[in-house]
Amino acid sequence: MSTTRHALTLEQIADEIVRCDRCPRLVEHCREIARIRRAAYRGEAYWGKPVPGFGDPGAWLLIVGLAPGAHGANRTGRMFTGDKSGEWLYGELHSQGLASRPDSLRANDGLTLNGVYITAAARCAPPDNKPHPDELERCRGFLAQEMESLDRVKVVLALGKIGFEAVLRARRDLGRPAIEPKAEFWHGSVRLMPEGVFLVSSYHPSQQNTSTGKLTPTMWSATFTTALKLRNRL
Ligand code: SF4
Repeated sequence: MSTTRHALTLEQIADEIVRCDRCPRLVEHCREIARIRRAAYRGEAYWGKPVPGFGDPGAWLLIVGLAPGAHGANRTGRMFTGDKSGEWLYGELHSQGLASRPDSLRANDGLTLNGVYITAAARCAPPDNKPHPDELERCRGFLAQEMESLDRVKVVLALGKIGFEAVLRARRDLGRPAIEPKAEFWHGSVRLMPEGVFLVSSYHPSQQNTSTGKLTPTMWSATFTTALKLRNRL
């Protein structure tokens, strides 16, 4: 990864991400999933590599998820594309006027985002959706680079505890002052960060949360309504 301090373009960051092989366990897992494939997708060629961020370079809203899904983004090559989490995310973005279509099934579907950029704490699909701490540490530089490059962001939406902590640590890596001594994740929290950007937290729209009712459609929709209101306050 580059060590320069000036902001890289999103294209440069994406190129580095796709070529990255610094976490052997995850790189191997992504390839193995792509080799075996799920029965429903046997006829498809999986992406099977690290997945770059996706969205509007002029974004006011930056969404930080956990990691690509094994048969979602690791299959399609685009964040939150091709799985249930993506149905929740893009469905809501479309309802709020932030996505050109309500579904996201494949990377070449023409979907565009309006004012939104989607990224994640880890760019390789981890076994059991659980990246190791050292893997998150290695991957966080990409998030910091994106945060530097996306200089119109007004609201960061962190999905889940891992996404939340990735944002805090990336800010620290960028030399930005701490928000509070021990900021903790909880669903629905809103914090104004010293750089004048709001940090909103939500449960991740994983099936584990959405199928159990931990995250309901009403809660999910309210998160985006809050983000839109916050944007209008700045
Ligand atoms: S998780 Fe991030 S740092 Fe690790 S190999 Fe994938 S892209 Fe590279």
